[in-house]
Amino acid sequence: MKCLTCKGDCILSPEKVLDEIFGKYMACSACPPDPGYNKSGPLTEKLNSTSGKCKKCGRRHLDLVIGNVLTILKEEGIFPEDASLKDVGTPLIAFGFTLPYPPRLDTKSLVLIMDSVTRDIAREILGQVPEVKGVVKRTGSQSQSIGILDTTSIPHTYELLAGCDMRCDIISSSFGELCVYKNQSKIHIEFNNTKIAKMEELFFRGELENSIIVDGLCGPGTLGMLCILAGAQKVIFNDAWLPALENTILNLKANSNLLGIEMDFENKENRKLIADEPVLMATAKGSAHVMVFHGDIRKLDRVVKKSDICLIDAFPAVDPQRFKAACKDFSKKTVII
Ligand SMILES: [Zn+2]
Ligand SMILES: [Zn+2]
Repeated sequence: MKCLTCKGDCILSPEKVLDEIFGKYMACSACPPDPGYNKSGPLTEKLNSTSGKCKKCGRRHLDLVIGNVLTILKEEGIFPEDASLKDVGTPLIAFGFTLPYPPRLDTKSLVLIMDSVTRDIAREILGQVPEVKGVVKRTGSQSQSIGILDTTSIPHTYELLAGCDMRCDIISSSFGELCVYKNQSKIHIEFNNTKIAKMEELFFRGELENSIIVDGLCGPGTLGMLCILAGAQKVIFNDAWLPALENTILNLKANSNLLGIEMDFENKENRKLIADEPVLMATAKGSAHVMVFHGDIRKLDRVVKKSDICLIDAFPAVDPQRFKAACKDFSKKTVII
């Protein structure tokens, strides 16, 4: 599959990703040890694109990559001489996974989310730091979620300044693994594992198997896809934010083997950025019947007549109770995730 953003090879098959993930970021036998930098103190060393590169595997420690970026930011005069690694931004590895060690990075394996950067400097970072695959400028505060709070809100997005922002998070649950791809300038950045634990609870109580589930604010599709893995009979994905739905459809395709499904319809026309009346965007068949709607959850009762569970995964700043009433019209039960 080609990446929709850069037409490159950002989308690897989840089977390949899962097979290789344990060795992907681990030091090889010849990798130099941790440089031992103080992440919050000034970094006086000047680092270039080869500083600290392993002679055997060609990768290098995350801190050396960030140090390379920091050196550029100081040379360009937008960061003071006493700036630290921590000031550079939020590094997101291309295949996100909870690592018990600092990652050793290969080429094009890091998306950087930065507060202080211009387009020219972003391009310079991309050109000079081989491990960086994309530079995204954060707008607003770190706690402000990316996307829309509801269909009447103004979308909040970050800006992709250089390269590609497509990356994935590896989701690991007791009933299976998935790779969830995200255009990180348009999709909420998530570090929250408690949601998977809640899904496992539902699974072990037998509430997902053979059920009809609505993933009402589906984002890139994580929870709904977990329901397919868990043996749901039918899963209905919905989101009002088009970039989220585009990522959901991409993820259904990319993970189709793991999910045991096959896409059988995709609506490529008439795409509005924010939906109102639900529009059917895609369907898939196989281990579960899958429907993907682009719509306002408060109008979903017009197309969904019954479900066993409606999952609500709202942004931290939104009271999920406001969506609960909408689910009552068609779902026996609503679960706030
Ligand atoms: Zn890409
Ligand atoms: Zn090495």
